Amino acid sequence: MNVPLLDLKPQMDAFREEIIQAVTGVIDSTRYILGPEVDMFEESVAGYCGASNAVGVSSGTDALLISLMGLEIGPGDLVLTTPYTFFATMGSILRVGALPVFADIEHGSMNIDPDHMVEILETDRKNKNRIKAMMPVHLFGQCADMQRIMELADKFELPVVEDAAQAIGAVCPVKLESETAWHRAGSMGIAGCFSFFPSKNLGGIGDGGMVITSNEIFATRLKSLRNHGAQPKYFHNVVGGNFRLDPIQACVLNIKLKYLEGWHHKRQQNADKYRQLFENAGLSGEIVKLPPVMYAAEEKAEQQNHHIYNQFIIRVPDRDGLRKFLVKNNIGCEVYYPLSLHQQECLRPYGFTHVSFPVAEQASRETLALPIYPELEVSQLEYVVEKIARYYQG
Ligand SMILES: *Cc1c(COP(=O)(O)O)cnc(C)c1O
Repeated sequence: MNVPLLDLKPQMDAFREEIIQAVTGVIDSTRYILGPEVDMFEESVAGYCGASNAVGVSSGTDALLISLMGLEIGPGDLVLTTPYTFFATMGSILRVGALPVFADIEHGSMNIDPDHMVEILETDRKNKNRIKAMMPVHLFGQCADMQRIMELADKFELPVVEDAAQAIGAVCPVKLESETAWHRAGSMGIAGCFSFFPSKNLGGIGDGGMVITSNEIFATRLKSLRNHGAQPKYFHNVVGGNFRLDPIQACVLNIKLKYLEGWHHKRQQNADKYRQLFENAGLSGEIVKLPPVMYAAEEKAEQQNHHIYNQFIIRVPDRDGLRKFLVKNNIGCEVYYPLSLHQQECLRPYGFTHVSFPVAEQASRETLALPIYPELEVSQLEYVVEKIARYYQG
């Protein structure tokens, strides 16, 4: 049996005609820059996420970059973020000329740890007051502890840019005044950043990204920045760039968005099946640590998206040995991420060599992503667990 980590073909086959028709429509329209497909997609994503504005951009990376540019973060500034995420989170901070400052992660969710954030923020306030924004990541499809992060944002008067690249449609509870309400990833900070990289839960047929915001002024600024800061055309008060979302991507994503909730639920069903199979095999707990679900499900379907499983991450002893064994048995798996960001070579000139984030470093040694995409068959999940059992139990 063959179980790829991700297979996009069944999804493409299901919508092939619809997608070709939409792409043909864009080709025939000769509107190749922004235009109605992008407008429509922005409106749909904003509505889906409960934000009042959305700005389609060229990638998830550029969504982060343009958000920091829009906040005028630059040289001399620090941005508080997690050391355990995809490189783009930190890359965007460095590209505006600022520096990251890291808080270690929680052992369970592997998201940024608010206790550690408090310590760092308090130290910063006693010293040079350089932290100008916070950038939590909703890793693998589950929100960071936004309740506490938004409280810190209030207390320290800092904007929050959510890196929701892996978490479009995930929800988490945040108590405002006395009511606890479920909020979609990306809708709580001043900016929420999404990626439509093909392997994300909502993926295009190339690169794409988006920023959502409920701040009108900020939205206007982002729309100008994605188009060289021109306002109006050929008059530039600020320096932006070419960060526009391609209408061909927008027309494909418009079609796929209708199916997104269904895919989330299939991923969740696959995750439940894995839990059951690992339990039956006597593996869950000591040998295979399964991804903990941090927020309790509520009755309404959309409130059950506390984890949308962009990745299903297990933690195991002898991870590299298991990985080799699975690959040999035609099971796709991947390490997200083999190095924490503070260990990356490109940070050396900035003097990060003396810092250590033990929880993140431990995660880098233990995590392994298993296939979780919506179209997997139960027999494939069974095969994966059977091989893992074979590896550890002989
Ligand atoms: C995918 C991803 C990005 C970058 O998105 P691109 O569209 O590939 O540029 C940023 N942050 C995280 C956490 C991601 O997973």
